[in-house]
Amino acid sequence: MQAAVNHYERYRPRPFTREERKDVTILFGGLTWKHERLVQGVMHNLNYNAEPLPNVVREDLDTGKELIDVGACCPTIFTTGSLASFLKNQVAAQGKEEVQKKYVFLTAGACGPCRFGQYHESYSMALDQIGLRDFRMFLMAQNELDQGSKDGGGLDINMPLSMGLVWAILCADVLTDLEYLTRPYEAEPGTTDRVLKESIEHLYQVFRKRPVRGKKWGVLAWHYLTDYFTEALGEVRRKWDSIEVDRLQPRPKVKVTGEFWLQTHEGDGNYNIKRWLEQEGAEVIPPPIAVWLDYLLHSPIERMLERREVDKYASVKVAVIRGLEKIYHRTYNRFRKALGSLPYELPDQEEIRKLATPFYHFRLRGGEGHMLVGKALYTYHHKKAHMICELSPYSCMPNTMSIGAMANVLGKYPDLLYAPIEVKGDAEVHALSRCQMILTEAKKRAQKEFDEALAKSGFSLETLRRSEAQLPEARRAGFKVPSYGCISTGANYVLHLAANARRAAA
Ligand code: SF4
Repeated sequence: MQAAVNHYERYRPRPFTREERKDVTILFGGLTWKHERLVQGVMHNLNYNAEPLPNVVREDLDTGKELIDVGACCPTIFTTGSLASFLKNQVAAQGKEEVQKKYVFLTAGACGPCRFGQYHESYSMALDQIGLRDFRMFLMAQNELDQGSKDGGGLDINMPLSMGLVWAILCADVLTDLEYLTRPYEAEPGTTDRVLKESIEHLYQVFRKRPVRGKKWGVLAWHYLTDYFTEALGEVRRKWDSIEVDRLQPRPKVKVTGEFWLQTHEGDGNYNIKRWLEQEGAEVIPPPIAVWLDYLLHSPIERMLERREVDKYASVKVAVIRGLEKIYHRTYNRFRKALGSLPYELPDQEEIRKLATPFYHFRLRGGEGHMLVGKALYTYHHKKAHMICELSPYSCMPNTMSIGAMANVLGKYPDLLYAPIEVKGDAEVHALSRCQMILTEAKKRAQKEFDEALAKSGFSLETLRRSEAQLPEARRAGFKVPSYGCISTGANYVLHLAANARRAAA
């Protein structure tokens, strides 16, 4: 007799009703603890119970491998393992029925050539394997602000939620820049992390108490025009001014790029590489999520312009997108300004596209698309960093293509220091030692730049230290070192102190 065939059935979550909202906790994850805490503030503001999943740990990789296709990219395996581990622990503590009733999982969804479009399939496979087929998981499209209510009305992805989430991400981004600009130079170890935690808690309260004004486009107008968030960031800046720093040191600047999850993550999932780089003496330029959102906003423009002959509204649509881009950039710059303009500006998407075009076509979507090549060239041409560290997930198709294209870039720009680090999650020594090889060269360049700045200044280090004592505000984390055309903070600072010493002597 022929065996019965179990046909594949797509995962469909049970409804999550509005009445259940007060008893159900929405789980989410995939960002840094800073972003997640502010996202939680937005959710609490709208009366959702929400909780980020614990940060990914090494064991989640093993859990994920046991549950899904082992050939999946490492971010898929890590995040699936993380969700499954959390749920298994909760089942052990509270029982299966309670967990299926008490939690739902909200994750970003997309379509496209990379596995990001199928993350939820991996999650549903894992839920099947751990016997939680009835657990509810919902997708939030990453390119729509107003998606209406999900099955049952328990979750409403509307303008107040989406605007809150975007503003929370932008605030966490600018604060992350401040963190990485400060920690390598802090005079007392641990101060940056302490002030960072206080600042994030302050901003959590700001998002939790956010007045939600207007509906649909009125919400956008309020977020755009209000001083509510910039005033809160001004308070954060005052906290950061309490941190004393010593910037008279030659540290190489390392720009971190790579696949979205891997570059954003801070923990075992990428061997904690940003902290490791700092411990090795580098100043890291972290990758803001804001650049990714900017890419999502900007990328339809070219497609629409090509359709002008067949779509009579194409020009109007392009004008609307350009208007939204202006709002987005102005908001980011207001947030930067509230923090003393210390956080980095957003790169121009059009310039990134043009820089990447000879090597990688912008229509090759998936992963970060042409941005990895474009960002590397942007960093190189604008002298933003001594070295680029690109985090590439094992088994990631878009990243493999970018690395192939970078071979061509390096042929043209042989002095571009580029470290493509393949991350499997379980080959830490191999990855870090590979990064260290390139970092050694970056350190030499930073030292040379520092020595040249000293020679150009005409002062010794000791004299500059004495001159620094006359400028107590320059030893504060909130002080912005002006650019004198050098890459490193230390070399620019040398030239700034020298200019100041000359002014004082005149
Ligand atoms: S970009 Fe690569 S690592 Fe990221 S989801 Fe797509 S395939 Fe996986």
